[in-house]
Amino acid sequence: MKKLLRDLSYLSGLRDRQAMDFALVKLVGQSDLWHFNAVRLVRAVGPSDDQHWVTLGKLDGHHDAPERDQFWFDPATLPCLAEFPQREDAIVTESVVRCGQGPFTTVFPIDTQASVCSLLEVESDAVVSVDTEVLIDSVLHLYENLQGLLDYGERDTLTELLNRKTFDGAFLRAAQTQDEHQLLDHPDRRCAKNQSSYWLAVIDIDHFKHVNDNFGHLIGDEVLLLLARQMRTNFRFHDQLYRFGGEEFVVLMRCANHADALSALERFRRQIEQHAFPQVGRITISIGFAPLRDNDTPSGAFDRADKAVYYAKGNGRNQICSYTALVEAGELVEQSDGAEEVDFF
Ligand code: GH3
Ligand code: MG
Ligand code: MG
Repeated sequence: MKKLLRDLSYLSGLRDRQAMDFALVKLVGQSDLWHFNAVRLVRAVGPSDDQHWVTLGKLDGHHDAPERDQFWFDPATLPCLAEFPQREDAIVTESVVRCGQGPFTTVFPIDTQASVCSLLEVESDAVVSVDTEVLIDSVLHLYENLQGLLDYGERDTLTELLNRKTFDGAFLRAAQTQDEHQLLDHPDRRCAKNQSSYWLAVIDIDHFKHVNDNFGHLIGDEVLLLLARQMRTNFRFHDQLYRFGGEEFVVLMRCANHADALSALERFRRQIEQHAFPQVGRITISIGFAPLRDNDTPSGAFDRADKAVYYAKGNGRNQICSYTALVEAGELVEQSDGAEEVDFF
């Protein structure tokens, strides 16, 4: 019991989600109160009609350190929801599911957020006792509460998207991952330079003031909430979605190339254009995007995407503008000191 309390106090001191996931898996997987052959913390990700399991932390056999799915995974390569019926059961029934006849699998649902389904799955030679289930359930409640506290500081209260405060840290982590990944794929730095794997998009609702003026602020808020929901279904699990304030949203997304980034954004633009918002009807959005560069800064990348949005607004709205394409076409001028000028109006 002493070890459990020590592990819980360690877990509650963490502020990093991945560290917290690993600490939870270790706490359950290396307890002196029970013995499990394997422990897995998993989450269902993706649009509701095409969900996959991503493993956030797992401890198998005699491994000492937890592992997780690669950050760079392609969601299509992950197991489908239906491949693990016991996990689906736990989500649907919102209760512990026990299966197998030795070895046994026990699945505990974790109730983090309405839109997120996480589970802890343990494998054991013996049936998990009721006392052990109760203890693990309490540990999971504590983990949920800690996640809730993190969410409270990091998320916008209306849309539950990430807030602007958390952007700089996430951006710098993405930029660092991009550098490391490029060096692995392209040890020749000159070659790596031309490839970007992260893209920053700024999304701004067109004529949103009219929505407020015609339907009132409360309906306006509902449009923001519904747009955020559409973002969550359109973009991938690892794409980070922000509300920067007002009716301006930001996506930090991972895409292999310019065409992929453009097509993900175009799919979203079309999805919004075709969506009937209650009372308001149709709305449109303008999007600007730019690749992350070597040694990029959050404000530098944001400024480039924002210039592209500004261009989209000045040229008809309801469209996507690529900063790179605008510079190449001579519509935006990139200055040598990193500042650019928009040469229209
Ligand atoms: P544009 O197409 O040029 O983007 O026009 P716009 O009307 O969307 O842009 P503008 O920046 O002129 O106005 C943004 C409006 O967004 C003004 C403000 O009333 C509204 N707004 C900002 N924050 C909120 C919010 O939290 N809730 C609601 N309902 N409205 C908001
Ligand atoms: Mg707007
Ligand atoms: Mg705006």
